[in-house]
Amino acid sequence: MNSGRAPRTRRTLTALLPLLLALLAPLAAGCGKPGSPPVKGPRADALPHYRVDTAFRLPGSPTWTMAKRRGYLIVGAKEDQPYMGEKDPATGVYSGFDIEIAKMMSASLGFDPKTIRFRTIASANRETALQNGQIDYYVGTYTINENRKKLVGFAGPYYMAGQSLLVRTDEHNIHGPQDLNGKRVCSASGSTPYQRIQRDYPHVQLVGYDTYSVCVDNLLTFQVDAVTTDDTILQGYAAKVPGELKVVGKPFSKEPYGIGVPRSDNALRLALDDALAVNEKNGNWQKAYNATLGLSGRRATPPPPIDRYPAS
Ligand code: GLU
Repeated sequence: MNSGRAPRTRRTLTALLPLLLALLAPLAAGCGKPGSPPVKGPRADALPHYRVDTAFRLPGSPTWTMAKRRGYLIVGAKEDQPYMGEKDPATGVYSGFDIEIAKMMSASLGFDPKTIRFRTIASANRETALQNGQIDYYVGTYTINENRKKLVGFAGPYYMAGQSLLVRTDEHNIHGPQDLNGKRVCSASGSTPYQRIQRDYPHVQLVGYDTYSVCVDNLLTFQVDAVTTDDTILQGYAAKVPGELKVVGKPFSKEPYGIGVPRSDNALRLALDDALAVNEKNGNWQKAYNATLGLSGRRATPPPPIDRYPAS
């Protein structure tokens, strides 16, 4: 132990904890304005306005047809990922980059984004939610990969993230996954970062929870040594409490984000691919990024090429 440093940090954190928990579980500072991101000032004014394509029809899509009959879309999302997908606990309003992607898709499909009903679905439950028809599509840091493509369909990708590590600012020994042997590392069960640590770093003491905000609480209270998931998500948490948390090392995977759809609904998947292409071209994607994830200090990398893969 080096002379009282850890206890002092611990005292500071204990004093800060109610604030941190209020911030992270999730952030309550949305100012109550629909669509406003939670910190660094409400930027609802900077968000794009998505034109609803009222003439749009997609009779070949069972999901779209059902939603049309219902009158609104049900979209799966995350609620505790700063700048990506978070829900204001006071108003119930969702905001973030993923939420903007969900809204632009909705407008292209002919549904007013204001009518979307968002449902929070944890990483481990996404495939089941799509398979059971609980949601029409899912936008929430959802990595496209071959295993998941056996269970669901993916439009996109619309963003490229990479697995990284979040530690307390008083941690000086963890710089990358090679330093995690014997360390307690937290991630969300069912996520690709969790699976990668389990597979490639067997000497890590891996802890799984439903959500990353619980992992971050565990990190701040010294119950784990690091949190691992996509850099997008980790940078969001670090930006909320910059004095306490930092992202370390270089990303060590590629996590292309897709919009999850029911596997057999190719018409919906391809319509969403078209909608993404239009919104990337007309500047909505960039504008949405700048008003959400861009506020975390993360520079926008252009979206990867859309993969219109054939139906199988
Ligand atoms: N992108 C990764 C995944 O889809 C991690 C983020 C998440 O759990 O949503 O598993």
